[in-house]
Amino acid sequence: MANFYNCNRCPAYCCSYPRIPVQETDVLRLAKHLGLPTETVARKFTKKGDEPGEVILRHQPDETYGSVCRFLDRETRRCTVYEARPGICREYPGACRCGYYDFLSFERRVQEDPEFIPSTFNRPGT
Ligand code: SF4
Ligand code: SF4
Repeated sequence: MANFYNCNRCPAYCCSYPRIPVQETDVLRLAKHLGLPTETVARKFTKKGDEPGEVILRHQPDETYGSVCRFLDRETRRCTVYEARPGICREYPGACRCGYYDFLSFERRVQEDPEFIPSTFNRPGT
């Protein structure tokens, strides 16, 4: 089935979700990929979520969305651990459309600016 979104044209909005849950197998895969001890990866890149037993990805500050996952390269807007990314990142958006990409495409069309990024964060004058 064809996809109606293109992540290469998007500044990785989905990597800005505050709650991106990961499983133990995700942390093990990331540790192997990075060549680091599992405890180091868990400490540096994950933290407890609000739900019981939940572990989520840690964030870093970001000019576009306020904060994003620590694994995102903020210049290229690409995942630095793409081959080893968590399962939930592989599954998203779980459909042939991405709601944010539809919004992004619409705004770029009406603003007549193919690089436009709709964001209320850090908007001048607000
Ligand atoms: S928000 Fe949608 S288009 Fe953007 S990177 Fe995520 S899945 Fe791709
Ligand atoms: S691991 Fe990669 S794909 Fe997943 S949220 Fe972080 S930067 Fe995005």
